Amino acid sequence: MVVILLGPPGVGKGTQGVLLAEAIGARHVATGDLLRVARREGTELGRKAQGFMDRGELVPDQLIVDLVREVVGPLDAAQGVVFDGFPRTVPQAEALGGVLTDVRRKVDLVLALEADDDVLVQRLSGRRSCPQCGSVYNVHFTPPRSEGVCDRCGAALVHRSDDDPATVRRRLEVYREETAPLIRFYERSQAPVRRIDADRPVDEVQKSIREAAGA
Ligand code: ADP
Ligand code: AMP
Repeated sequence: MVVILLGPPGVGKGTQGVLLAEAIGARHVATGDLLRVARREGTELGRKAQGFMDRGELVPDQLIVDLVREVVGPLDAAQGVVFDGFPRTVPQAEALGGVLTDVRRKVDLVLALEADDDVLVQRLSGRRSCPQCGSVYNVHFTPPRSEGVCDRCGAALVHRSDDDPATVRRRLEVYREETAPLIRFYERSQAPVRRIDADRPVDEVQKSIREAAGA
């Protein structure tokens, strides 16, 4: 199964994507996470992406499509994939269609996660991320057992620099301009699109997602 998690920053794509991928035995492919690893490792991609990410802008399509092709290309034909944060533009969606057609696959389900901006802003202001294992917490809703320390691996948690209020505002604008139109794009392309109310507790949102995915 190929599932796309669409939605604005902070709506819970990462939180839900990890849980869904585990439930259906799929690979969770989060382009934001892959870019942050590339930055940390100082690769050419990481260096090219850095400025765009810091400003809350999108990284150029070609870099992202090459990255996704590298990850998805070698996967077994039966391997499910949960895309999180990709595609984010119409050209990325078209490129994904091409990559999947080449391996005789298609997008099976698009989950459009929705919540109001004030919810997103509050979630992003409280988000704390583990730079080592990628676990995500929230100081308001899902704090770690020990303040500032990752429950899973013990690393010091960070507040992502692009979660500061000015960059969050820009990321929300970019979402509305470039990514939200993908909901119509997929509706027109006849991929099943399910809208999910993401302003509910994590387990309730996950239950709706699993129902939509038939899992
Ligand atoms: P995205 O990947 O869409 O940017 P995340 O999954 O990182 O979003 O979630 C953003 C923040 O909101 C994180 O701090 C996460 O712990 C928190 N969060 C996610 N889902 C919920 C929820 N249903 N209720 C409360 N907080 C949530
Ligand atoms: P995320 O972790 O999904 O919030 O992404 C963090 C940042 O990485 C975004 O603000 C973009 O700068 C960049 N990014 C992640 N995924 C993509 C994508 N599919 N296309 C372009 N830029 C991306």
